[in-house]
Amino acid sequence: MKILVLNCGSSTVKYQLLEMPAGEVVAKGNVERIGEPVGILKHKTADGKCVEITDQVFPTHEAGLNKVFELLLAGTVKSLDEIKAVGHRVVHGGEKLTHTCLVDDSIIEAINGVYPLDPLHVPAHVIGLNVAKKLLPNAPSVAVFDTSFHQTIPEYAYLYAVPYKLYKEDHIRRYGAHGTSHMYVANRMAKILGKDIKDLNIITCHIGSGSSITAVEGGKSVDTSMGLTPLEGLVMGTRCGDIDPAILTYLGRTKGMNADELDELINKKSGLLGLSEISNDCRVLEEGVEKGDAASIRAMNVFNYRIVKYIGAYAMVMGRVDAIVFTAGIGENSPYVRGEVCKRLGLLGVEIDDERNDCHGKERKISTDASKVDVWVIPTNEELAIAQETFDIVNR
Ligand code: AMP
Repeated sequence: MKILVLNCGSSTVKYQLLEMPAGEVVAKGNVERIGEPVGILKHKTADGKCVEITDQVFPTHEAGLNKVFELLLAGTVKSLDEIKAVGHRVVHGGEKLTHTCLVDDSIIEAINGVYPLDPLHVPAHVIGLNVAKKLLPNAPSVAVFDTSFHQTIPEYAYLYAVPYKLYKEDHIRRYGAHGTSHMYVANRMAKILGKDIKDLNIITCHIGSGSSITAVEGGKSVDTSMGLTPLEGLVMGTRCGDIDPAILTYLGRTKGMNADELDELINKKSGLLGLSEISNDCRVLEEGVEKGDAASIRAMNVFNYRIVKYIGAYAMVMGRVDAIVFTAGIGENSPYVRGEVCKRLGLLGVEIDDERNDCHGKERKISTDASKVDVWVIPTNEELAIAQETFDIVNR
């Protein structure tokens, strides 16, 4: 059966049409710059055909999806009725939406209720859910939450040491993110090793423009570096990750910065960009490191060190580590970052094979055969994971 996976961002829609349960991608693409004077739509089909539209306006998500359906009907499907279900990526489920579920009006309302925790994504998700309902009335929608996988984190790891009533009344706690990706690569790791995931402790490192690390004990997330929002934890492209929270009150008092300005500072102007004053792109900074550029070296040193710190902490949390997985844009493509991180993991018995580590975007073991911990690069595939969850729910 054909399942459409939708990932609606504030001005983008990423999509994949998959034949399930085989997991074959029939068509995929993305619509960008929705609501801007000129949009972009890139569409690829399994037979290698590629369409790129750069001269049309997509005033709304619905307009973008209408064009996508037009392209699907021009060769991929004979009728939209062939699409049997739609899987939606939802970034934040809050406290109530804890598991993948079939979408009805009450679920859309509940997703809307998460707005204060995720103002960036919720409006786009709700539009996507309503558009799918309207344009594909016969296909059930399934919501897959990035936060679901982290529901198993114990209370002592998800609570912040702030007044408890902020948790009880305002739901302030660690929720984590990238859960679908962490779950996918952890399961894939178990499969590759030929072991039951229940018998494995894995540290999954999703390192991209947004980054997080998860401790996966016996197949369950027991801690993760992102928190109430996807800002906590690692250094990211433009996000600061962990900082002393007093920095914010200090800046508020001494520079008169308000909440919006502080939000912008820590979300958009920090991370690799803020530290290097050059770029948020790891590729650019790696080139700088190679040339001996001090600003690039400074930024990448902080970036790599923070990853080491989290891996070390999660090794202690689980007491034993069987495998470490690198995934996402940087994790899959940067032998430099993986090498710099792993060379500091000697205490765990990690030993990297430089030749194996010289790889990009491929599933590969990068540790030596003598290494006490298996280290792998596993490309993430959130769309496939969402399609699998959707398939399971609609066939239950
Ligand atoms: P993601 O958010 O997972 O798509 O990751 C995007 C980031 O991956 C980009 O901003 C780049 O910094 C990084 N990236 C992509 N390709 C490479 C590469 N070959 N080497 C280093 N970093 C890369």
